[in-house]
This record gives sequence, C-alpha cells and structure tokens, in this order.
Amino acid sequence: MERMRVVVGDITTLALDAIVNAANASLLGGGGVDGAIHRAAGPKLLEECRGLGGCPTGAAKLTRGYDLPARFVIHTVGPVWQGGKADEDALLASCYRRSLELAAGHGLTRIAFPAISTGIYGFPAERAAPIAVRTVAEVLAHDRLFGEILFCCFSEPSAELHRRSLRSLSADDRPLN
Ligand code: ADP
Repeated sequence: MERMRVVVGDITTLALDAIVNAANASLLGGGGVDGAIHRAAGPKLLEECRGLGGCPTGAAKLTRGYDLPARFVIHTVGPVWQGGKADEDALLASCYRRSLELAAGHGLTRIAFPAISTGIYGFPAERAAPIAVRTVAEVLAHDRLFGEILFCCFSEPSAELHRRSLRSLSADDRPLN
C-alpha cells in the first residue's frame, strides 16, 4: 500500500506536516518518545501543552512543532497495557484514528507515527503493529486527502513487525490509490 511506509529512526528528525507524540494524559512531558520530542521542540512546546488541560486516553490534541523540523505535533495518549481486557486494542486504534482526524481537520497530510504504547506503556509490540497498520489503512481508504503516512520505528524488530502487517493487509482492505 503505497501511502504507508515504514522507516527506522528518530521521529524528532522528520520534516513533515506533523509528527505524533505518544504522550501521557497530563501532556506535560515524560520519557521515551515524549521526552525526545519535548527536548527537540524546546520549552515553548511545554508552555503550549500546559494550556491544553491534558488529554484522555485514545484522544489527540494538536500543538505547534516549535524547534522541530515538523510543523505540528499531534499528542495522543495510548493505553497502558493491563493484560488485554481493559479495551486496550480499541483505545490504541482510537489513537491512530483520532490523530488522523485531527490532522485532516487542519489540512496536515504528511504524518509520522511512533509505535504508540509499545514502550513504557507495555503494549505488546507484535499485537500493536497490526492494529496501527490496519487502522491507518482504514482511514486512508476513506480519505484521499492524506499523502504519505510513516510508521517511524525506533528499532529494526519494530519496523519488521510493521512491514509484516503491511504485507498481510488483505486486498479488500487496500485503499484504491
Ligand atoms: P509509550 O508510553 O506510549 O509506551 P514510549 O515513548 O515509551 O511510549 O514508546 C513508544 C515507542 O516509541 C517505543 O517503540 C519506543 O521504542 C519508541 N521511541 C522512543 N523514542 C523514539 C524516537 N525518538 N523516535 C521514534 N520512536 C521512539
């Protein structure tokens, strides 16, 4: 599927319309990709985040990118893995869907996602990747606005999980490009 691509690297280096942050509910910064994004964007990002009043799990909020090469940051809050019976799959899918809805609403068409929830939040990476890829594919199938959507993986094993999920998208799920 041509409009989705897997890259390995640091999401803070990508010059796109927006990068997605796997934030926590306070939106006041944390470890992992969240810490990296705040470090690279500079203190004005935290200032803007303070005015947002946090973000519920599965939802997304937009800020400027400040010192990042990306113009905007979409902050979404993934579910903390609790064994799989606390609606984690649906909440993770919601992060991808709501992030893309927010992007579309602001005319942002080139977006990169990290592997949301698969770090500190403990969501199994092999379960998260197909949810990420399928959810983005569903949105792309119904929305011709988007350009390239990147899965920016921090490791080669994570990238391989996403590539495998891309390959196994059934022909029926593929948007008409
Ligand atoms: P969460 O709390 O949602 O689990 P983490 O930031 O701990 O978020 O991890 C989410 C994913 O982001 C993990 O796969 C982690 O390896 C990856 N990650 C960490 N730093 C970066 C970065 N700079 N760029 C891209 N991905 C990153």
